[in-house]
Formats: sequence, C-alpha cells, structure tokens
Amino acid sequence: MEIKNPYIQYMYSYPHKTAYGPLEGVFLKDYADRMAGKGHGLYFHVPFCQGKCGYCNLFSVIHQTEEAIDQYLDGAERQICQYRAIFEPYGTEFSEFTIGGGTPLILTERQLERMFRITGENLKLQEGREIGIETAPNQTDKQKLMLLKEQGVTRVSMGIQSFLEEELKVLRRSHRAEQARKALELLRVVDFPCINVDFIYGIPGQTVDSLLYSLQEALVFEPDEIFLYPLYLKHGAGLIQAGVVPDWRLASKQYQEAAAFLKAAGFRQDSMRRFVQAWKNGKKDRQREFSECGFGTSLALGCGGRSYVGNLHFCTPYAITQKSCLEQLKRFEDTLDFSKITHGIFLSDEEVKRRYVIRHLLIRPGICLKQYEEDFGTSVYQDFPVLEKWGQEGLVQAEEFLALTDKGMGLSDYLGPMLVSDQVCEKMKEWERVHESVDRVVPGKSEKL
Ligand code: SF4
Repeated sequence: MEIKNPYIQYMYSYPHKTAYGPLEGVFLKDYADRMAGKGHGLYFHVPFCQGKCGYCNLFSVIHQTEEAIDQYLDGAERQICQYRAIFEPYGTEFSEFTIGGGTPLILTERQLERMFRITGENLKLQEGREIGIETAPNQTDKQKLMLLKEQGVTRVSMGIQSFLEEELKVLRRSHRAEQARKALELLRVVDFPCINVDFIYGIPGQTVDSLLYSLQEALVFEPDEIFLYPLYLKHGAGLIQAGVVPDWRLASKQYQEAAAFLKAAGFRQDSMRRFVQAWKNGKKDRQREFSECGFGTSLALGCGGRSYVGNLHFCTPYAITQKSCLEQLKRFEDTLDFSKITHGIFLSDEEVKRRYVIRHLLIRPGICLKQYEEDFGTSVYQDFPVLEKWGQEGLVQAEEFLALTDKGMGLSDYLGPMLVSDQVCEKMKEWERVHESVDRVVPGKSEKL
C-alpha cells in the first residue's frame, strides 16, 4: 500500500459533527429509555479560553467576562433541570463525568463550584464514578485544584504540547514552558489518581530530538498517561491563514521515535495517541480491558458537546469561528425548551456497525470477534471485507480480538477514514463546501474529507 499522507482525520467519534443536519419533531423524552439505569457518560462543555491556539478548531470563544460565563451557566442550569425531569423516571446514572472545553478551569472557583453543584444535584453520578477534567497551565492554581479534589475528580488532563518556547509560540499557545512545569508540580502535590498530559508533534521547526526532549521533561513529573497528537490544521484553524503546512513525513518519523521512546520508558500503547504507564502497584498491566464503547451512550451539558442516545446523536450546529461560536452560545442561552432536539443525526443499522468497528478497532484490545457476532449476528469480515486485505498487508491481526498491529496503529488516521460510509463522507464534504466560502479558510484540507 503506497500512502501519500497518513494524516487524513482523527476518528475520535463517528460520524463527524459536520455530517449532522437539522431535525424536526424530535423530543428527547421519546428516547430517554435508551439511557435507563447505570453506566452512561456525562459531559459538560466549557467553551471558554484565554487565547485561541493556532491549530484549534474546537467550539471555544475567547475574551469572555465573568458575567458572560455566569449567563452560560444560567443556560446550563436550565438545561440540566429539564434533563433531570426527562431522565429521573428511568433511573439514569452516570459512571463517567467529563468536563472539557475550552478550558474549564478558566471558571472562577465560585463558578466551578456552581457547575459541580447544578450537575450533582440534578443528575445522578453513580458510586465509584470517574470524574475527569481538562485544564491548561495558566489556569491551574492550587485553590482550584483543591476544589477539584474535594469534588472527587479522578483524572486531570493538561494540554502542554511542548516544553520549548519556540514551539509554543508557533502553536500560539497562551502559556510558557515554565508555567507548565509549575502546574504539573501542583498536580503532583494535590495528588490525583490519574494525571494525563498532551503533546503535539509535526510542529513546524520541531525536530525528533526536540519532541523527545519535551517527553523526557514530562516524565520527570511521572504522568500516568501521555497523549501524542499529530498537528492537524483543519477548517477554521488560525495557522492555515498564516500559510502553515504541517510536514507529515517528519511527523511520521517523530511518531515512530516517540512511540518507541515511551514504550521503552514503561508505557503501554492503547491507540495511536494514547500511552498509559503500564506499571501498576509493582505489576505490569499488559492490556487495556475490553469495554463495549462502540454502543456508548453519553449526555452533553452546555453548548457544543455531543450527546449519544442510542442511534440518535445530537449537538448544536458545528461552529468554529469566534463569530459562529458566539452565535451558537447566544442561541443556547436564549433556549427555553431543551427537550426539543433540532440538530443531529439518526444512525442507520449500517452506520451503527461502522461506529462500533471504528471505535473498537482504533483502540486496543480491538474488536472482540465473538462479541461482534453476538451483537450483530454477522462476522466483521463479512461486513467489512477490507479488513481481510488489511490482514494480508500486516495492518491488523486476529486472535480473540481483531486489532491493529503496530504498523496499522501508526496509520490509524489513514485507515479509520476508510471506514467512513459514502453517505457520511458526502455530507461532510457538503459542509466543507458551504462553509469554506463563509469562513474564508483556504488550503491544508485533507484528501478525502
Ligand atoms: S486548543 Fe484547547 S486551549 Fe487552545 S483554543 Fe482550542 S479549546 Fe482552547
């Protein structure tokens, strides 16, 4: 297989939000039974940041006042109370609560406390639940971390991206390397069960050595997990307008060297991006446990996050620019009835299978072949003949689980997009066509999408 560029798209979920469209006559209460009982995900989106990173195409806005953030929380509280009325009769309990953004710790202590309170008082977090939160070095201080600890946060994830000033500058990050060191030190002192740090490779001017230097620096703080992200410049990213084009050949080389470095340092690789410290209580924890994440249900709070309620996926319309994000925020804050779902997608049975395969194949231990047959009544090879071919090419291997080989894992962002259906691909292209002129963003787009 000759590969022109292995970095096509990060498939963290399927289908992509740009494949969603307007919905009419859809009411959440009619689907609430799909989230009965325990084991669901809960996500709170905090769409505020100090500055816009050059590679960011997430739903986030900058320069917002404390009052503006209070208004957002007012809207979220109204939404959460309505969700309570919908899900309470079904005994819905959440096993995971994730607070992402944006930069959640940009909230003041009072606002953070309020966010936890309005969520915890209205929606049931089950015993032993995990609570994860994202943060950034400039917003990480001791008081806020103590508050998180009191709220039972179990995982803190911090975007560091690089320990080199020049690279942080290229990325247009708001923090300095020294601030990242201080924040990591604080995370260690306050002592959370899981500390995760994110890094980026493929940054113009970054070398294999400078990437390894950043990782070496991170290891000093003994993180439990490290995520390595290739630099993507997709629709809406500021660096595209600056004419920056990532060098994927260099990125490939950096990925291989960094993966080898982390494995040698005792990390287990779960996916192309995720490396987990493999030693637990003196014992090597060899494999990530299988969980049926392909059917995962999750409810998003606030504006910009996605909800997955069975085959109904919904969110506010995809927005990237400051202007369009502010418009969505205003609409969210003006919404009186959150039970009406106006934008999303219903997955067909075929798309449900695709989602399942994409979500399981790209993370180890992979697809449990027996489970797949039990769930769908067919063999995964029958449904996805391309997997046979990938097996012959040494990209996947099968025993109890069908999993990517090391070579295949490094090509996750190339193989994953091949599993996208033609219909979804067409919708995504259509979105790009419509928004390209509106958002005035030019080159640097992917081959397929
Ligand atoms: S990458 Fe993260 S921190 Fe940077 S602007 Fe986007 S959401 Fe904010």
